[in-house]
Amino acid sequence: MADRMEPILPGSYLGILGGGQLGRMFTQAAQAMGYKVCVLDPSTDSPAGSIAEKCIQADYTDSVALKEMASLCASVSTEFENVPAQALDELESLGVFVAPRSSCVSLAQNRIAEKNFLATWKSETNIGPAPHFVIEHQADIVHTPAELFPGILKTARMGYDGKGQITVHAAADLPAAWAELGQVPCVLEKRMELDFEVSALVVRGYDDAVVAYPVSQNIHRDGILHTSTVPAPSLKPAQEKKIIEAAKALIRKIDYVGVLCVEFFVLKNGDIVANEIAPRPHNSGHYTMDACVSSQFEQQVRAMARLPLGDTRQLAPVSMLNLLGDLWFEGSEDQAKEPAWNKVLAHPDAKLHLYGKSAPRIGRKMGHINCLGEALNEARQNCAAVATELGIEP
Ligand code: ADP
Ligand code: MG
Repeated sequence: MADRMEPILPGSYLGILGGGQLGRMFTQAAQAMGYKVCVLDPSTDSPAGSIAEKCIQADYTDSVALKEMASLCASVSTEFENVPAQALDELESLGVFVAPRSSCVSLAQNRIAEKNFLATWKSETNIGPAPHFVIEHQADIVHTPAELFPGILKTARMGYDGKGQITVHAAADLPAAWAELGQVPCVLEKRMELDFEVSALVVRGYDDAVVAYPVSQNIHRDGILHTSTVPAPSLKPAQEKKIIEAAKALIRKIDYVGVLCVEFFVLKNGDIVANEIAPRPHNSGHYTMDACVSSQFEQQVRAMARLPLGDTRQLAPVSMLNLLGDLWFEGSEDQAKEPAWNKVLAHPDAKLHLYGKSAPRIGRKMGHINCLGEALNEARQNCAAVATELGIEP
């Protein structure tokens, strides 16, 4: 199918499954390059749906909706990690170029498959997952290796932002923890002594070209990403090289087209552990929007349009600050306030991104700010100052 290799040029429609903030920023990047965007999302007023040229409001598995999308879009990607693989397969069978393909998305949707895959890959990259054990049936519990405690029990599916996870201190606590998670298939992971966390962002084009962004160092609060700083202040050059090589090897191994994020733990003893993969642009890659030649969203557009990839070069040190719905409230959700944007924007190196979500809620991702600096320290100080303006604890 020679025509499958032709680029999809500006003026055409690109499709995105999911209308959240990732879909919105993808839409903005696509529109900036002259594309039109069709969003498929079950909700009526999604952040991406409200700015896209076309919004189909339907379930991801709605065949009529998928056909409509396929008739409009030569290429479709997903911003929603848990989009049913069936939807991607259906689009592909309708002749759409689906990037990344459903097998790649499925791998990231199931921690059991993901951990197994990361373990297999270890022999080639020298970076494997944390020691773990799969618990699918009651009978598995007694076979759990004792050295995994204290551990973290994670549901195989649908976990995000630290949800679907319970710390299990000892073997005796495991049955109750598994019951609390509804006795669904889980992975028990040894709790590692983290020094810090980083993520690698790599992109692969349809032609097997692979590029990598500088690795970001991530701080989470209550399981949700709080800041990403690049260059990663604590990462040694040799570690960064190893991480990027590992992520590049992975993206090729699964024949993935598009932007892929791989999260890693750097342990107190200096060892590196692969945590999980996200089959899409990632929150920890939002820094690329203001600090790099090409943003992660522009790369997603290029990859799915079968165009050459853009430069990943970083132009300035940066610290990204996530903005959660908490900022719209004075303590509890019944006392609303408006964040002090005027004070934030008095910092000329602070680049504000808001996602246009109608209702803020505690813990909901509402936007982010990329704080730039001429030197890394300046970017970090800038970020701390902006956080203070917003009343975010340093
Ligand atoms: P999610 O899908 O919610 O992002 P993760 O597996 O990335 O789930 O876990 C969320 C956070 O919990 C991680 O970023 C890390 O801070 C912590 N965490 C997860 N697994 C471990 C582990 N095995 N040891 C220590 N900390 C962990
Ligand atoms: Mg994670």
